[in-house]
Amino acid sequence: MASERNIIIIGSGPAGFTAATYAARANLAPLVLAGLEWGGQLQQTTDVENYPGFPDGIQGPEMMELFRKQAERFGAEVVSSEVTKVDFSQAPFKVWVGEQLEVAKAVIISTGAAYRHLGIPGEDEYAGHGVSYCATCDGFFFRDKDIVVVGGGDSAMEEAIFLSRFGSKVTVVHRRDELRASKIMQQRAFDNPKIEFVWDTALTEVLGENGKLSAISMRNLKTGDETKRPTEGLFIAIGHDPSTKIFEGQIDLDDAGYIKVHDGSYTSVEGVFAGGDCVDFTYRQAVTAAGMGCMAAIDAERWLESKQHA
Ligand code: NAP
Repeated sequence: MASERNIIIIGSGPAGFTAATYAARANLAPLVLAGLEWGGQLQQTTDVENYPGFPDGIQGPEMMELFRKQAERFGAEVVSSEVTKVDFSQAPFKVWVGEQLEVAKAVIISTGAAYRHLGIPGEDEYAGHGVSYCATCDGFFFRDKDIVVVGGGDSAMEEAIFLSRFGSKVTVVHRRDELRASKIMQQRAFDNPKIEFVWDTALTEVLGENGKLSAISMRNLKTGDETKRPTEGLFIAIGHDPSTKIFEGQIDLDDAGYIKVHDGSYTSVEGVFAGGDCVDFTYRQAVTAAGMGCMAAIDAERWLESKQHA
């Protein structure tokens, strides 16, 4: 067993690295268990134009490199390992990476969330090159384009309405003939003259030319008819899954698996804090995740301090 740490941070997106920078600057020498693919969702992103401080924009992976460097500069130890098990039943908290056990007085969870993928040919290939999972992030790149949105829930309606500000037309493709979205969101989408619907239809393939999305193939699930449709923008909005499986039974999660927090970043276990997309299903932005990572580090630092004087 390794010697006891002050803080272990699980996850290495904007929330994790911001927490690491704050904890390191508070002399807490945090260990960041970054996951096998460190850097989170931004590692799969191309241009980031809405993170304050980068007026010319920055590539997602480059931004995460800077986040990491900044945390390491102040002494954060970053290890590219996947946490396999935790035991938060008593302090110090136990965190396993395979066979290796790490222990800490406090833990910050910032494991993020993953966009659900359709899992069809071409989807991953053209992600960031016409295929997107976030209208707030990428809508701006699709001015006057004919855009397709997949999904029938609130996220899909929200994305379609937002994208109608940029695109010449937005077509929502849904696999059934009724929406799952709330009535009010449905009505807003139906009332929007730029939004059209294609019902009972599933995408079967994402096609591209010169490294960029150029068309999609679809199948009508009732008739079996196959069609191909040119498009330069495809937004997949079929939901998200928080990366919280290993915390089930350890801390309180909501029905969708998001970590429940109170008073900033406190979870249901005293000494375990959380921030970023594993908590937040509303904003899901790098800047809000970074802010929540900062909150978690400050909460953890103050909590540790209060324990010392208790
Ligand atoms: P969701 O409610 O689970 O909806 C996902 C949608 O994607 C469903 O219409 C589903 O189709 C479709 N879908 C799932 N897998 C698919 C696949 N493999 N291929 C094609 N379509 C697929 O997810 P969400 O829209 O992200 O919403 C999640 C939660 O956040 C909800 O509680 C929602 O109300 C909330 N939310 C609220 C707002 C708001 O109020 N402004 C905005 C965003 C999210 P089926 O309908 O056929 O299952």
